[in-house]
Amino acid sequence: MSTERIFKNFIGGEFVASRSGRTYERRNPADRRELVGIFQDSNADDVNDAVAAAKAAFPAWRRVPAPKRGEILLRAAELLQARKERYSRDLTREMGKPLFEAGGDIVEAIGMAQYAGGEGRRMHGVTTPSELPNKFQMSIRQPIGVVGMITPWNFPMAIASWKMLPALVCGNTVVIKPGEDASVSTYNLVECLVEAGLPPGVVNIVTGFGPSAGQPLVEHPDVPVISFTGSTEVGRLVYELAARQLKRVSLEMGGKNPLIVMDDADLDLVLQGVIWGAFGTTGQRCTATSRLIVHRRVTATLVERIVERATRLRIGNGLDPETEMGPLVNEDQLRRVLEYIAIGKAEGATLRCGGAQLSEGACAHGFFVQPTVFTGVTPQMRIAREEIFGPVLSVIEVESLDEALAVANDVAYGLSASIYTRDINAAYRAMHELEAGIVYINAPTIGAEIHLPFGGVKATGNGHREAGPTMLDVFSEWKSVYVDYSGTLQRAQIDNVE
Ligand code: NAD
Repeated sequence: MSTERIFKNFIGGEFVASRSGRTYERRNPADRRELVGIFQDSNADDVNDAVAAAKAAFPAWRRVPAPKRGEILLRAAELLQARKERYSRDLTREMGKPLFEAGGDIVEAIGMAQYAGGEGRRMHGVTTPSELPNKFQMSIRQPIGVVGMITPWNFPMAIASWKMLPALVCGNTVVIKPGEDASVSTYNLVECLVEAGLPPGVVNIVTGFGPSAGQPLVEHPDVPVISFTGSTEVGRLVYELAARQLKRVSLEMGGKNPLIVMDDADLDLVLQGVIWGAFGTTGQRCTATSRLIVHRRVTATLVERIVERATRLRIGNGLDPETEMGPLVNEDQLRRVLEYIAIGKAEGATLRCGGAQLSEGACAHGFFVQPTVFTGVTPQMRIAREEIFGPVLSVIEVESLDEALAVANDVAYGLSASIYTRDINAAYRAMHELEAGIVYINAPTIGAEIHLPFGGVKATGNGHREAGPTMLDVFSEWKSVYVDYSGTLQRAQIDNVE
């Protein structure tokens, strides 16, 4: 699928053009002269077709024994592994991150295929003793039906896998609307699943834009579960629309992630962590380090070293193995980041490095911006509170651990947070008190592994977690089963009371 330049919707095991015949182009954000592909600009008619296919495939798929469903995922893991290099290049070309990072995206999907595949042989329920004699009781997980998935562009393979693979092993069928800027990786993932033996209609892909292709999926009455990752603004709308039909909705949304540096921290380690956390994926990670909250005794030394390293980052096309930081994903994102840089200046923060668009040499044909560091940022400034989603770091100076924790928690979001310190008491306090779904000690705010729950608190999420042992919860319904083999009517809470 990935070698074709025209990507049709994948519905019921067939590639089909959008009903309206409308398409859109995606170009490489590092070099807009390069066409990545032509995609279907789908609407509600296409979504209806895809949901109908997923609904028709559900009764048979739910009856496939879970270990057999898992085996398909395990075979898909092997195919992903064999194609890692090609898929990494596709991913870099469609959304811009350097090749070594794109490889990480594929490895995450491989890990998730192995982890979810193994779940086919676990999928534990509980049994408990009954309070009545000759009675047995247990609980089992059951699939729910058609799951609607809406994903962003920043981890196009990993996020699709985090949603799709647990949903499939549970026995659900899927309609996915990938991020419009990076849909190729979803096709690549599904290509492996299909070759591994996934029956037609079990996974369907409908490409297109949020309001025209995503919203009809959210509102479709035959889609009881919605799994969404994206901005808090869109997530809130998705939640409201789905609530009208009492749907189960899992939301993974924005972040404004703090990295705290105490005065006893190993600054060499901090430097590496900050550069990776703030400028990796061009700052376009939901877990990106966007606030550096530093003890005043080490601020000057640390900032000087960060600025020196940031200005030396090699920026360019991610397909060049020398590139350390790629472009922003599109023109809107470029405009948004430049706007926030202007806001930071207007708010009175000090621009210590970066701040400008790059449009020469390796950056001549893409959406590039310099790694940017602001100092003198106060917690009330917009650049300290709002998600920028670009390579912009806001440095906030503090006097103590108490102040650092208060500043860290004083934002709407709560995805990831980190602290660098050699004081074990400070580390444990931070671990308990940081309002975040993920906390790192002596590591940057990015780097989650698939075996632990992933998600955030406050405006970042609505209480669900992807990955880890929690990953099945959104995609399965508990059923409690009581088996009375006494041959008599036994009334719980009545017949066994003395
Ligand atoms: P976005 O909210 O603009 O889009 C996300 C998805 O929603 C896209 O597929 C889009 O087409 C779709 N969409 C847009 N409008 C819609 C509508 N009205 N109805 C239904 N669907 C609609 O986000 P983005 O720019 O693709 O991604 C960046 C955002 O995602 C950031 O806020 C980032 O923090 C967040 N994110 C969060 C996580 C997490 O796990 N918490 C992970 C990655 C990205």
